Formats: sequence, structure tokens, C-alpha cells
Amino acid sequence: MRLIDNHTHLNDAVFRGREADYLARAKALQVERLICVGQDPEFNLRALALAAQFQLVYAMVGYCPDVASKFDDAACELLTQQLRQPKVVALGEIGLDYYWDESPREVQRAVFERQLDLAYQLHLPVNIHTRDAFSDCYEILKRHDLRYGAVLHSYNGSPAMTQRFLTLNVQFSFSGVASFTKATEVHESVKLVPLERLLVETDAPYLTPKPYRGKQNEPGYVYYVAQAIAELKACSLERVAAQTYANTVKVYHLE
Ligand SMILES: [Zn+2]
Repeated sequence: MRLIDNHTHLNDAVFRGREADYLARAKALQVERLICVGQDPEFNLRALALAAQFQLVYAMVGYCPDVASKFDDAACELLTQQLRQPKVVALGEIGLDYYWDESPREVQRAVFERQLDLAYQLHLPVNIHTRDAFSDCYEILKRHDLRYGAVLHSYNGSPAMTQRFLTLNVQFSFSGVASFTKATEVHESVKLVPLERLLVETDAPYLTPKPYRGKQNEPGYVYYVAQAIAELKACSLERVAAQTYANTVKVYHLE
């Protein structure tokens, strides 16, 4: 059995200096590869550095909605160069966050669209963050060509929203939230999404799955996310691991 954590922030300060330990812990839980996610200039650089340093680490870089206001022409130029580096497998995380609203919403939407266009030009998949903005996210994705792949990260949309997203060329990545007892809408969404379109992630150091909820999350814990998916899908953990591994390799062209 082998797993991939397709969205993790090993570049977060909480892991600094101990990344190799966390990778060894992940390997012990059969997590063979992971994709380290950038979100702003500093996290992007750190994701690239970790991908260069560790064989099993890949990177994605992008401007998340919090820093959308800082995405000017110079930032776009630098991001374009970074996206061409080896082991950079996607543009992300990008999207909309109407919960924190750190950038004006019209700026968030414009920068999201600009990065979707950039990914298309570079033939790269995108990794999408959406919080309290599912309808707008859907409308934006609907008018973009997603042939190079799109992953909805830590997906927690309602079943009705899931039905709409299922009509687009997107994959659904579930996090530890799927293991939370009270997350009944997410459980329903897991059941609606075919295993062929499902990925698993930790979003570490956030969203720690059961049985470690309340503690700091880490990449290895994608094992417990996969376990929660297996329970909801009433299939074996091995099946979830094999299918999500294959889906992840395919959407990010890891091989
Ligand atoms: Zn994240």
C-alpha cells in the first residue's frame, strides 16, 4: 500500500528544521510522496527549496486569496519562472476566501482568474482553495478551460454544490474534515464523488484527522484521512490508497 498527501504545508514554520523527521514518520505510515503547497512569496520559495532538498517532495506555487492584492506584474513574472522549475507540479493554492476577506473580493476573483489563465498557458493543473465562496468559485471555474486539471483542495462543499462541481473537469481532495463525526455534509459529498475523482490530503499543520484531532497535523496523517474515506465508501483502505494514488499521479503528472 502507498499513499500521497497532495496538499501539505511542510514549508510551515512549525516543521522547520525537522522536515526530515516528519518525512520519515510519513514513510512509516506508507506515505511515499507529498506535494508541498505555496501560498505567498515566502511559502512559495520554501516549497521550492524543500522539493529540491527531498526526493519525495514535490511543490506547487501560487498566490492564495489572502495575498491577492500583492499579485502584480512583477509577482506574475516571478511566479511564471518558478512554475517552470523541476518538480513544480501545479499552480496553487489559488482561489477565493470570503471568510477571512484579506483582499477585496473583486481582487480575489480577478487574481484567481489571472492565475487560472496562467496555468492554462503553461499546461499546468491548478489547486483551488474555496472558503464561503462556492458559488462564485463554481461560476469562475465554469467559464475556464480546465483541460490541464483542477483539484478542489480540502473540499467541504454541500452535497448540492458537489453535484454542480461534478459537472466540471475537477477532482475532489478531502482532508481530515472527512473524519470529523459532525461533518455530515462532507460525508455525503464523499459518497457522491466517484473514487476515480477523489484525492486525499492533510493540509498539515491544520485540520488534523481523528484519532489525533486537537493535535498538530503532519503529512503522515493522510493515512487516517484515507481510512475515513474507506469507511464512508464502505471499501478497503487498500482500494482507497491505490485509487487516490493513481488519481494524484495522473492529475499532477508525477510520472
Ligand atoms: Zn493549504
